[in-house]
Order: sequence, then C-alpha cells, then structure tokens
Amino acid sequence: MKTFEFIRPADAGAAITTAAQAKTAQQGAEVRYIAGGTTLLDLMKLNVETPARLLDINRLPLDKIETTADGGLKIGATVRNSDLAHHATVRRDYAVLSQAILAGASTQLRNMATTAGNLLQRTRCAYFRDTAMPCNKREPGTGCPAITGSNRTLAVLGTSEHCIATNPSDMCIAMAALEATIHVQGPKGSRAIPFGEFHLLPGNTPHRETVLEPGDLITHVTLPAPIKGSKQLYLKLRDRASYEFALASAAVVISITGQNVTRARIALGGVGTKPWRSQEAEAVLVGQPATGANFRRAAEAALRDAKPQSENGFKVELAKRCLTHALQMAVTG
Ligand SMILES: Cc1cc2nc3c(=O)[nH]c(=O)nc-3n(C[C@H](O)[C@H](O)[C@H](O)COP(=O)(O)OP(=O)(O)OC[C@H]3O[C@@H](n4cnc5c(N)ncnc54)[C@H](O)[C@@H]3O)c2cc1C
Ligand code: SF4
Repeated sequence: MKTFEFIRPADAGAAITTAAQAKTAQQGAEVRYIAGGTTLLDLMKLNVETPARLLDINRLPLDKIETTADGGLKIGATVRNSDLAHHATVRRDYAVLSQAILAGASTQLRNMATTAGNLLQRTRCAYFRDTAMPCNKREPGTGCPAITGSNRTLAVLGTSEHCIATNPSDMCIAMAALEATIHVQGPKGSRAIPFGEFHLLPGNTPHRETVLEPGDLITHVTLPAPIKGSKQLYLKLRDRASYEFALASAAVVISITGQNVTRARIALGGVGTKPWRSQEAEAVLVGQPATGANFRRAAEAALRDAKPQSENGFKVELAKRCLTHALQMAVTG
C-alpha cells in the first residue's frame, strides 16, 4: 500500500475544502473521504486506489436517522448499515431496505459499512481489482479483458463495449425501488440528486461511476413517506447463502387494490452496471391483475434489452425467475 496522510477534519466545511483540491472524485482521486473503510482500504491494499490523503468523516455529525416533515426518513451518511437495517421505522415502513442490507456482506462488515460508503462501493470485477491486468475502469483506454474473459458474475444490462462491470450493492437496489434522494454538499453548495440520476452507465467513460465532483460530500439520503399498505420484498440469489454478492436480485414495492396492481416500483441487482430500476416491468404490472402470468410478463420486459456475454447468459433467466418469484412472495407474504 502507498503511504498516505490521515486527516480528521474539524467539520464538513474543512473536509469539503480539502477534498475539492483533488482533480477528480472518480477513480484515481488523490483525496478520499473514508467512512467504514470496507471498500476503500481493500482497494488501497491492492493499489487500485492510491489516494495521498484520507479524510476521516466518522466524527462529523452525519450519523442520525430522523423522520422528515413530510413523513419520510432522513438517513445520515455515516449511519452504519447494521443500525439502518435494524432501525424500527425502517423495519416497519421500508422493509425492503432492511432486508436488502441484511442480505449483504457479513455482520462484522455491516457494523462498519456506512450509508454513503455503500452507495459508492466499487465493482467486484476481478480485472478491476488486479493491477497486473488492463481495465478501462481503473486505467481508461487500456481495454476490457472481461468481455472476452471471465465474466460469469458481470452485468447483462447497461453494458457498453468498454465495460460490463456489475454494480454489486444490495442496499442500492432497495433504495432505487424506494425512490431515495441523495443529498450532497460540495464547494458550490448543496444539491439533491434523485437516486436514478446518481450512478452513471459506463458508456465510453467507465471510470466515471457517479455524478460526484471533487469535494462533494454525501451528507444524507432521504426516503419519501412510506406508501401505506404497500407490499415490499428483497430477494437475492447467489452462489452461497451468505457472505456473497448477488448473481441476481430483485427489490419490489407493490400496491394492490382488489385484484389489480395500482402501483409498482421494481429494481434489479446483480445484473446491471448500475442499480437497475425497471420502469418497463412497472408499466407492465400497473392496472393489471396480480397474477403469476403478469409477474412473468413484467420480468420478460425487465430483461428485454439484456446483452449476455460468454459466461453469464444464465443470468437472464435467473433474473426473470428472481423477479417473478419476488413479486409472488411479496403479494402472498
Ligand atoms: C468481503 C466483503 C463482502 C461484501 N459483500 C457485500 C454484499 O454481499 N452486498 C453488498 O451490498 N455489499 C457487500 N460488500 C460491500 C460493503 O457493503 C461496502 O464495502 C460498504 O458498504 C462500504 O461502506 P464503507 O463505509 O466501508 O465505505 P468506505 O470504504 O469508507 O468508502 C467507500 C467509498 O465511498 C467514499 N465515501 C464514503 N463516505 C462518503 C461520503 N459521505 N461522501 C462522499 N464519499 C464518501 C469513499 O471515499 C470511498 O471512495 C462487501 C464487502 C466486503 C469487503
Ligand atoms: S468489466 Fe469494467 S471493470 Fe471489468 S475489466 Fe472491463 S472495464 Fe474493467
């Protein structure tokens, strides 16, 4: 690991001013915030990330979970994943989020991992994590060996000829279905970013993963007021029952009146280059009877644009079954 300076900024303003000196907030940033460290330190040990300065944000007052005036929830950036998953309001009103977080990593990791850190966790693509290999995400312009190489766990939605890396987060899939908003404070002031606009598709700039700019500090995430009577579920399919990333997952938030679906929010994990909200699946469901056949039609719509690679074609059917089953479990549950 390269040597670095470890700094404890006095307040958010000092942290932002220092971080703003970096040329980028993306891969290769010279200054990084550090929260739980469970992504960043791993990547520093591998020399994939080599920041010269680390800004410890753990002592900033960003660790509260509070209700908002409009009946929603405000989640501080440094709230630990365990605390969020076990929070009484989250368990009652945003069950899909609690389930998604608890489906990820291990107890020890969740005790360290934070809300903002989870939003910014990096792909598990093996080439990205191996500096002996080329990788467009780590070193723009060097190529993507995954396309002709080992790609079993990589994405089938939102890929480009330059990168097919999967976004590995479970928490983010639930937040996409809950239509969260990410709040950022930066050198030019504060802004609120709808969840679907925060992560970027790889296109021809896979090293740019989010809309963050140098200095931007995620301060908190808000969730809208819960949808009364909605049925929520997170289903994760993986190679082993714990301590493993999703091959396919589905977060569903669905409302039914009588026999018909009146509202649906659906997101998929393990298959997209970013947390994958499927408005196509939602459109198929709304106004239709909540039947297994319609759930399957929604799943077909969600995966219609899938582009499988040499080893991950199985994910297309797996994701369809995952979503169909998640919808069935949610409505019968
Ligand atoms: C063995 C292992 C298994 C795992 N399994 C899963 C799994 O199954 N599912 C899953 O979803 N995740 C899994 N994870 C990933 C884990 O959830 C993430 O590592 C964790 O959420 C990152 O949070 P952190 O606070 O530790 O982030 P850090 O490592 O501290 O930071 C990550 C990134 O976020 C930036 N950052 C942090 N806070 C802020 C902020 N407030 N503003 C701006 N930038 C910020 C940092 O600069 C850094 O670039 C696993 C991790 C490991 C090591
Ligand atoms: S899929 Fe993306 S992260 Fe993986 S090798 Fe290709 S460019 Fe790098």
